[in-house]
Amino acid sequence: MKLDLLRDRLVRWCNQNSGSHNYGGLETMRALLAADFSKLPGAAVEHLPLADTPARLLRVRVRPDAPVQLLFSGHYDTVYGPDDPFQRCEQLSPERLRGPGVIDMKGGLVVMLAALEEFERLGHNNRIGYEILLNPDEEIGSHGAHPFFVEAAARYQLGLVFEPARPGGELVHSRKGTGNFTVTCHGRAAHAAGGAKHGRNAIAALAEFLVAAHRLPAELDGVLLNIGAIRGGGPATNVVPDFAEAKLDVRITHLTDRTAVFAKFDDYAAPIRAREGFRLEVAGGFSRPPMERSATADAVFAAWQQCAGELKLPPLQWIHAGGASDANNLATAGLPCLDGLGPMGDRLHSPEEWIHLPSLFERAQIAARFLKKVDAGDFTVPTAGRNAER
Ligand SMILES: [Zn+2]
Repeated sequence: MKLDLLRDRLVRWCNQNSGSHNYGGLETMRALLAADFSKLPGAAVEHLPLADTPARLLRVRVRPDAPVQLLFSGHYDTVYGPDDPFQRCEQLSPERLRGPGVIDMKGGLVVMLAALEEFERLGHNNRIGYEILLNPDEEIGSHGAHPFFVEAAARYQLGLVFEPARPGGELVHSRKGTGNFTVTCHGRAAHAAGGAKHGRNAIAALAEFLVAAHRLPAELDGVLLNIGAIRGGGPATNVVPDFAEAKLDVRITHLTDRTAVFAKFDDYAAPIRAREGFRLEVAGGFSRPPMERSATADAVFAAWQQCAGELKLPPLQWIHAGGASDANNLATAGLPCLDGLGPMGDRLHSPEEWIHLPSLFERAQIAARFLKKVDAGDFTVPTAGRNAER
């Protein structure tokens, strides 16, 4: 494992556009990945069609009959479409590279492959088998890949997800679940001069709801709410508007927060719904449930920390993250996951996205060492920790 080779691979992958809707680019990207991942010894490579999208999932399986089975998960789409000005990598300093997807998450794919290559190269006891799932639609919700995650979650003991580390280098033990809601309010149109006598102002009523909803994070611990868009009324300001609509992004820490959020929405809506002439509706739901911390992940993280220590690397921490990833889907399907195993850097989803290059090498070393420990029987992945209760 040489850092400059890892860097070259990263640049090659990041300079290939693979925005979630650029199907031609995604196809070329998948071919690049398949060319490299298929060199893992005994790799069976499949290009699986997905519902809802012409893009395909790359699945690589090695030693499916080995006693310990691990799932490696990542995505190869990015948020940068082919028309985005951000298309190529640029070296900012010897240790820092800026580029589209350098940490989210082509850098993570480099770490994943480097760890597996190192593990295979060093020789082992054939005790570990694994499946790698690389999906093309994570940045738009993983709707196409979702059935494959659910199916794979049942077959594995542990999911290792190579999304970027947090800005301080921390791994991720849990993630918020995400939901999208549309709030619509219908009132009654009238001449502005008639005022409240005839008209029912939908904008004013919706505003009442939104001001209340904006306070939701203060009322429910661990819940976030963002009012992302609002529209209503028409071109004429002398008309009482009969319609207004807002879009909300809501994030939750625990599965049980869902009912609490719905109850709060009902509370905020109640006084408006009680008034004659108004109709207020809340549509939507939580598409990605939260990834809750598991006992298995606790044990695996301790082993991961130990590996970092043995390599004389700085001690690892792990934290809760507000953004969702495919680990949310895997964990909800019952698979304990450790996430944030990818490289260090920052500013993902922006033209300033950058990676701390040495972290490619370091994170791959830690992962390879962990695999070695499992293969040697020095660490046993607990099987009792399956998130089976959900
Ligand atoms: Zn990502």
